[in-house]
Amino acid sequence: MHESYDFLIIGQGLAGSLLAWRLIRRGRRVLVLDDNHRTAASRVAAGLVNPLAGMRFNHSPRIGRWLEALAGLHDELAREAGRRFSHPQPMVRLFRSPQQARFYERNRARPGSEGLFGDRFGPEGSGQPVKAPHGGFHQHHTGHVDLPALLAFIARWLEARQALRREAVAYGQIEPGRDRVSCGELEAEHLIFCEGYRGMENPWFGHLPFAPDKGEFLVLEKRPRALPGGVPNTIVNGAHWLLPHADGRYRLGATHDHHRLDQRATAEGRKKLEQGMRDLLLHPESLRLVDQQAGVRPATGDRKPFLGTHPEQPRLHIFNGFGAHGSLAIPWYSKRMAEWLLEGKPLPEEADIGRFG
Ligand SMILES: Cc1cc2nc3c(=O)[nH]c(=O)nc-3n(C[C@H](O)[C@H](O)[C@H](O)COP(=O)(O)OP(=O)(O)OC[C@H]3O[C@@H](n4cnc5c(N)ncnc54)[C@H](O)[C@@H]3O)c2cc1C
Repeated sequence: MHESYDFLIIGQGLAGSLLAWRLIRRGRRVLVLDDNHRTAASRVAAGLVNPLAGMRFNHSPRIGRWLEALAGLHDELAREAGRRFSHPQPMVRLFRSPQQARFYERNRARPGSEGLFGDRFGPEGSGQPVKAPHGGFHQHHTGHVDLPALLAFIARWLEARQALRREAVAYGQIEPGRDRVSCGELEAEHLIFCEGYRGMENPWFGHLPFAPDKGEFLVLEKRPRALPGGVPNTIVNGAHWLLPHADGRYRLGATHDHHRLDQRATAEGRKKLEQGMRDLLLHPESLRLVDQQAGVRPATGDRKPFLGTHPEQPRLHIFNGFGAHGSLAIPWYSKRMAEWLLEGKPLPEEADIGRFG
């Protein structure tokens, strides 16, 4: 006999976790299937929240809504968990060239930028022990989300509701019908794929323009005899970024590689990152290496996520493609995806897979 659900979700990374959270909170019977995070980007991601990503300091026209949804969802999670997973932290942004300062001047005046750009400073004015030959500026509405802790909490929350199974799903097990979809002995009204970059192997959605991007980063800690004040006490972000964590450790990242798609940390990645650290910090000798990690960002060709329903299989859906911005964007898009599935409200145009025809 089939076990029956409203929704099956494949993948308990940040996307599958937050979508399951929203659907269960709206009274739906959900089962999440995950292969124990075998390839989860969310398990290794630094979780930086940076509304002005990229060289030109552009931001999404939806940034206000993203930030609002991030705060709202994390308040909800904190009430349930008794602890916070989202930690606001100021960011010191460093110009990589004199030309970059022009993007700062131009974009801070754009409507919708209010509150994101802080004051500009010169080479000596960052207030942090960093090399800033071209100066930089203080950035607001930044911070990080403790993704491993959040995933572990949601896993426990799902388990308490018999809503999580640790198993790999083979695509051959899935049989979509007109009214229901089955997956082995399971059956549901809908099935949503949230497999991260492995979505590119999906027989129903793998044709979408995935552009997966491997990233490596270093985990560091202060040396016992580190110079007092020798290590930044806030996020610094230039060609590389350094993120101080509450447990006294630091993460320094990250590399980009569109060809080698695996979870292996490499000697080449380490060399690049160590050079990045020397270029960024005035006293790189204050930190020592503790670990090196790697994962693959589920990025897309047009840098917009993939949300929607298969054009010929109305029981199959996708919620994926959050690239390097999952922490900031998934809270809002998970709300919109739940509204699409439960109420048929239109998806945001830029994310709707209908944009590919
Ligand atoms: C090095 C690095 C640094 C990053 N830094 C940041 C950052 O600072 N800020 C930020 O916002 N984002 C960052 N990201 C990106 C962030 O990790 C992603 O945006 C987000 O975590 C994607 O979540 P997801 O749930 O879509 O995918 P994933 O986290 O990859 O989750 C997919 C899950 O599905 C499972 N799965 C896949 N196929 C199957 C199957 N057939 N059966 C069962 N389970 C399956 C996988 O094992 C995994 O657990 C970074 C990523 C990397 C790699």
